[in-house]
Amino acid sequence: MQVFHTISGLRDSLSGHRIQGQTIGFVPTMGNLHDGHLALINQAKQSNDIVVCSIFVNALQFGLNEDWDKYPRTYDSDCEKLRSMGCDYLFFPDDKEMYPNGLDTQSRVICPTMTDVLCGASRPGHFEGVTTVVSKLFNIVQPDEAIFGIKDYQQLAVIRRMAEDLCMPVKITSAPIHRETDGLAMSSRNSYITPEERPKVTVLKQVLEQIASQIEAGEQDFSALESEAKAVLGNQGFKVDYVTISNSKTLQPAAIDDPDITVLGAMFTESARLIDNISLKKK
Ligand code: AMP
Repeated sequence: MQVFHTISGLRDSLSGHRIQGQTIGFVPTMGNLHDGHLALINQAKQSNDIVVCSIFVNALQFGLNEDWDKYPRTYDSDCEKLRSMGCDYLFFPDDKEMYPNGLDTQSRVICPTMTDVLCGASRPGHFEGVTTVVSKLFNIVQPDEAIFGIKDYQQLAVIRRMAEDLCMPVKITSAPIHRETDGLAMSSRNSYITPEERPKVTVLKQVLEQIASQIEAGEQDFSALESEAKAVLGNQGFKVDYVTISNSKTLQPAAIDDPDITVLGAMFTESARLIDNISLKKK
């Protein structure tokens, strides 16, 4: 695997592959790689000749009081994992390479729909940071395909919408949620969870599954389902950010007759904010 810290270095190498007609699959990450990330790399490898991964802890998508400073940075072990997966290129730029004119004056990509609900409501500016950095990375790598995890459901939906709205010549592909054996969705932020609360955090997935199975059984009172789930999380000692039954595409509150519904939840533990989701198709 070759590692590039500069845009020009990566572009020079990738142009050779493009001239030969090879396809490029791309997996953007913030590092501290776990098996969920590596499954994305594997998926990219299945359908492309060349795989590029990026690691960049993007300050633009972190709020002022969020964890940009303490976000786990594990470059050496990340490189080892990527090599073992057969990743071809790692793009590992620093802040100056990505934002040479500083953050404040950086041009932004705004996706006005879907970004002020769910995670966007409690993390103002977050998705603007995501769409901006992902657009930059798409322009740098110019991939044929980019793979994103369903774990970050709203991010995936926003990026799909951005690529469609801006006619970006890239296929956006989703990858299933990778979980620990007890069901907790893998996340780089799981290292923030304390040992005491760790056994209890699986309750998030459980309440989402409970809602999904009740809707599948015909329950139509969505707001009652949401309230019950929030109460269960609260009783376990977690602060609820949201539990919402949404239209899978628009992310607006779901109507009873919506064909595609996703149940999304976010909660705060003592020192982590955890998200999860489950999609269902009504019979
Ligand atoms: P991150 O490094 O957390 O920004 O994530 C990089 C990519 O990996 C995003 O597309 C995430 O949705 C995806 N990802 C993170 N965690 C998981 C997981 N548990 N299962 C599948 N994909 C994931």
